[in-house]
Amino acid sequence: MIKNIDYWDLDRFAQDIVSGKQLTDENLRELLSLTEEEDIQKLHYVARKVRDHFFGNKVFLYSFVYFSTYCKNNCAFCYYNRCNDIQRYRLDMEEIRNICRALKNESIHMVDLTMGEDPYFHNDPEKFVDIVRTVKEEMGLPIMISPGVMDDRTLSKLRENGADFLALYQETHDRELYQKLRVGQSFEERMHARQFAKKIGYCVEDGILTGVGNNIDSTIKSLRGMQKNKPDMVRVMTFVPQDGTPLEEVSQESSLSELKIISILRLMFPDRLIPASLDLEGIDGMVHRLNAGANVVTSIIPSDSSLEGVVNYDRELEERDRDPKSVVKRLRTMGMEPASQADFNRIIGKSTGKPAEVPVVAI
Ligand code: SF4
Repeated sequence: MIKNIDYWDLDRFAQDIVSGKQLTDENLRELLSLTEEEDIQKLHYVARKVRDHFFGNKVFLYSFVYFSTYCKNNCAFCYYNRCNDIQRYRLDMEEIRNICRALKNESIHMVDLTMGEDPYFHNDPEKFVDIVRTVKEEMGLPIMISPGVMDDRTLSKLRENGADFLALYQETHDRELYQKLRVGQSFEERMHARQFAKKIGYCVEDGILTGVGNNIDSTIKSLRGMQKNKPDMVRVMTFVPQDGTPLEEVSQESSLSELKIISILRLMFPDRLIPASLDLEGIDGMVHRLNAGANVVTSIIPSDSSLEGVVNYDRELEERDRDPKSVVKRLRTMGMEPASQADFNRIIGKSTGKPAEVPVVAI
């Protein structure tokens, strides 16, 4: 499908995807098996063509506010799992307001409020509702929440108070692997929370890890599992072994598999949001991920921020280079630029049924 075909055929392939062609499992297997640099570049080329058809050179930017690193869970891959003896923090409302002020008037389309499953908020969800309400008032932007699994009532309350997007990653749709990664957590409850959120008008994001024991069959299961839920945003991230976790000794794979999967996601979810996270390889890594077909930059933080990321490639670095201005500057060198807020609101509105707040700008 990619091997031994010229660029005219690649253009036709991209056009077929735009016209609704669906990849078979055999196609997925073939694409996931690519190893030759030339073939992988062809895959990225098709993915970019498809992305450009739907989004032009426009990119969406999400700022990341990791407001609590406490967690009651024990995910084997995660630095913040409850058994890891690390320094943790929980921001108070004034600190959150200060971050909002630092981000005001920057090129940001959505604020992502992330926490571990912190009992302080999970046992008293009203405290989290207050944060969502406050950030909405301060920023006036769409809000993504990444709080872990919350019950239906809380999700409804959060929605009523300004939450637009729920990010809840399954990490894998291969149940056997899930039990090894999200130790002791229900596969179904996680699925249910995403499905319920979608039903009540949230946009939803699902995500998977790669390089964490997923072979090709397992990856196909995950890709199909994500597809079933019709997410608005789909993510893949390379597993990075974290100190003090059960998987700290696992050797890290390169980002090659992630980049291939980003392109495959673009072919499976042509008009959906697909992120290039700054959290894995910083701003250079962002470029590779956008070149593989992503159209969103995530994990943007204010320039002077000492907040955590999820993976934190830059935990030891002084210069973090993850602020909005650095991102926009680099995008421009790639011939890309931030989309308008109207473009983003149109996407949110299409999924949530809410009308866009400002006139739509055609891409
Ligand atoms: S992945 Fe999330 S739920 Fe799991 S341990 Fe880390 S912070 Fe907690």
